[in-house]
Amino acid sequence: MSEKITVGLGARSYDIHVGPGLLGAAGGLLAPIAQGPVPIVTDSNVAVIHLATLRDSLARAGVDARPIVLEPGEATKSFRGLERLTSELLASGVDRGGLIVALGGGVIGDLAGFAAGILKRGIAFAQVPTTLLAQVDSSVGGKTAINTPEGKNLVGLFHQPRIVIADTSILRTLPRRELLAGYAEVVKYGALGDRDFFEWLEANGADALAGETAAIVHVVAHSCRIKAAIVSRDEREAGERALLNLGHTFGHALEAATGYSDRLLHGEGVAIGMALAFRLSVELGLCPGQDCERFVRHLKAVGLPAAVSDVPGPRPTPDVLLEHMGHDKKVKDGRLHFILLHGLGRAFTTSDVPAEAVRKVLAA
Ligand code: ADP
Ligand code: ZN
Repeated sequence: MSEKITVGLGARSYDIHVGPGLLGAAGGLLAPIAQGPVPIVTDSNVAVIHLATLRDSLARAGVDARPIVLEPGEATKSFRGLERLTSELLASGVDRGGLIVALGGGVIGDLAGFAAGILKRGIAFAQVPTTLLAQVDSSVGGKTAINTPEGKNLVGLFHQPRIVIADTSILRTLPRRELLAGYAEVVKYGALGDRDFFEWLEANGADALAGETAAIVHVVAHSCRIKAAIVSRDEREAGERALLNLGHTFGHALEAATGYSDRLLHGEGVAIGMALAFRLSVELGLCPGQDCERFVRHLKAVGLPAAVSDVPGPRPTPDVLLEHMGHDKKVKDGRLHFILLHGLGRAFTTSDVPAEAVRKVLAA
């Protein structure tokens, strides 16, 4: 039932393994690339539930694992968190020829990947993503980063992992809200370039979210396949990779306007952001209204938010959101850069959107 997807990047190519129960088999996959002591970077929530399975598997394969358990939460993805982690990594005795394993969600993957990229000028690392968001998005493609007071992910580098091991069974312990937030990035792949996948999700997405094995494996594997193909064509986001930011200009503004709090998870912001991108595309006469309606219907059917008014608490105003969009790091030459849609599965980039249309959609 497992699937293997290759991210083709020449000498830096690597495989993504997707399947149920892979954590217990990780030792066999990691041993051939592990050398010396192997730090496992994780957070305390994940450690309590899943660390033992990985440790046992590594022990059986003869790997000397050294767990480093960090505090859960976005605050760990900071210079302070990086400083603590690098000193623990150095203390672990991992060497230039060694391997660092990231076991956790996007926070752990981004931080451990960045640390691996700069420690001793670069050490190999493996991603063992434990959230749906990390399995379908952040663990694939080599973007690593930390946050600073100026904004999220502003300090980081490209450092591709050597292998990604996505155990779909691990998602059973993930809180439902986190699972759904990750699913927003799954729907994104259908919306941006694969209408057939979107239609498959309409029929089977609920089963996947309920943990049905074949369905969740397909969701993760197919999402990785789409992302892998885009990353191998455009690793450094000179062009096509920007399509992966569908819904993110709006989404980041919503996250900023809600103070990066519990009120809105990243994926929830992306869900609303994609709905807004569809509405803006319809408003500009670029996209059939029925595609927009169909997209929003699916978000609602699975329980994702689809409008600014779905954000709990005081509603962020168009002015505040526009102001935050001006600060988004994807802004080029002071113009708002958008990913819009000609229809379901047909995203494109543009920087020619009249501010009035954006304001109208935000106020609707
Ligand atoms: P993301 O991948 O969405 O960026 P985080 O790394 O912040 O998310 O993880 C979200 C939360 O879920 C954290 O509190 C983390 O400890 C927890 N978590 C991660 N994976 C699992 C899992 N498989 N089961 C239970 N909780 C998990
Ligand atoms: Zn995202």
